[in-house]
Amino acid sequence: MKAIVLRGPNDFCLEEVKEPIPTAEEVKIRVLLAGICGTDLTLLRGKYPAAPYPMVPGHETMGEILQAAEDSQFKPGDRVTVFPAFGCRKCDACKTGRIAHCPEAKTIGVLRPEGYFAEQIVAHQDRVFHLPEQMHNEMGAMVEPAAVAVHANHRGQVQQGARVVVIGGGTIGLLTAQVALAYGASAVIVSEPIAERRAIAKQVGIELTCNPLETDLVCFVRKKMKMADVVFDVVGSEKTLADAMEMLRPDGHLVLVAVPHSDTLSIAYRPAFTKELKVIGARTYFLEDFPESIRLLHSGRVQVKQMVGKILPLSLLAEGVELLEKHPEDYVKILLNPLM
Ligand SMILES: [Zn+2]
Ligand SMILES: [Zn+2]
Repeated sequence: MKAIVLRGPNDFCLEEVKEPIPTAEEVKIRVLLAGICGTDLTLLRGKYPAAPYPMVPGHETMGEILQAAEDSQFKPGDRVTVFPAFGCRKCDACKTGRIAHCPEAKTIGVLRPEGYFAEQIVAHQDRVFHLPEQMHNEMGAMVEPAAVAVHANHRGQVQQGARVVVIGGGTIGLLTAQVALAYGASAVIVSEPIAERRAIAKQVGIELTCNPLETDLVCFVRKKMKMADVVFDVVGSEKTLADAMEMLRPDGHLVLVAVPHSDTLSIAYRPAFTKELKVIGARTYFLEDFPESIRLLHSGRVQVKQMVGKILPLSLLAEGVELLEKHPEDYVKILLNPLM
């Protein structure tokens, strides 16, 4: 079968590799779509220090079952998505689905080499989820990023009537804002400098958007909602963290969603202390966030089709990467289809 093999920084191409063989507990899946995410860009460009070269990248996928054990709940042809993180399977965190908290947790296609930019993959059955029959493939491929948004909302304890600010209108920001609305937020502001992304926010039901390069975000928030109950920082800079703390109400929740770009990024002590803020990390997801993500997507309350800018064959991964890097105004999410 064919897969993208990444051997080092910028050194990747579609190659013939061995077909994966499932164990008794695993199913074999034909990949129908795999999403390119920001983490993949850092991996492909060699900016991910712990990349396990040589590797197959890709951790967002949906596909159809090719092979499953007789007594399995899966049968050939079933459409599924896969939870890509992998732990020791023995610790408390693993046993309760909080795999991100396992000391040995690794995401497939990021820290484990057998990723999803491939024609076929195998996955342990307890990490595979059925997709509803009517759900479009594209929606199925977005279950993983939407699970990040679900998890962030759970971490931030977004409740009915909450005033929410999402800083950053890329895939995760746009999904996080929609999940907040689905969970009953009374007002949601998305702050995003790219006009096309603010337009997508409007299309998916986020009425309040701010261009932070033109309008001071803290003033905008004050005008529209006085103070925020929950702020999701999906950018992760000194400025966004300072803004977030300023716009939060006392006892408000600052949720750190962005992957840190530097080890020196830190949070100011005084505002956190003075306002008794809760500063909460939100890293990937728990197992239970996957069925919830599927439920929200299926209900139509979280929309993704406006975000999917293009579907490319696996062989054109390099083109997809360039489009995402050079034209973020035109492309939020690009999917790969190994059957094209
Ligand atoms: Zn990702
Ligand atoms: Zn574990």
